[in-house]
Amino acid sequence: MSNMFCFQCEQTAGGQGCKKVGVCGKPAEVANKQDDLTGALIGLARAAAKQSPGPAANELIMQGLFATITNVSFDAGRIEELKQQVQKEKSKLGGAEDYPSDQLWSGDVDVVSLRSTLLLGLRGMAAYAWHAYVLGKEDPEVMAWFYKGLRALGEEHSLEEWLSLLLEFGQINLKCM
Ligand code: SF4
Repeated sequence: MSNMFCFQCEQTAGGQGCKKVGVCGKPAEVANKQDDLTGALIGLARAAAKQSPGPAANELIMQGLFATITNVSFDAGRIEELKQQVQKEKSKLGGAEDYPSDQLWSGDVDVVSLRSTLLLGLRGMAAYAWHAYVLGKEDPEVMAWFYKGLRALGEEHSLEEWLSLLLEFGQINLKCM
């Protein structure tokens, strides 16, 4: 059985993290594909820093983040398909390195905690933003922050910088809601 790591909900095993299979039933294959998709989304956000992303990239950013929330999709094929679409869009924007998914949950415990707080917050905001989008509502400032936040996930920051990012994110998340 392969390993996974997920601690994004209150059901998480032992209050620490699901490592073999999710308490919710999420298999390791899906958890690992969600992490790979997250790494690819960071790559797309990096590529978008070089030129303006269009609606296709925006939709993939929101859909991709939304698809990695707790119990939205356990469909490994769909998550893989989204990752391939993200990589194709990234190439159109000039390409960039994906973030190595095994680094999402590694490092100093405080940094992992702050990084994952931002990531899980972005996923939650994507759920709101995507539903608003399909109803015909979008906000350029909220959209721009998805890219900023994803790029920030792939960078090194001091604890003060992480906290500042999270405070800024809190304001944009409120605006989104
Ligand atoms: S979403 Fe599922 S796999 Fe992730 S922490 Fe919650 S119970 Fe565990």
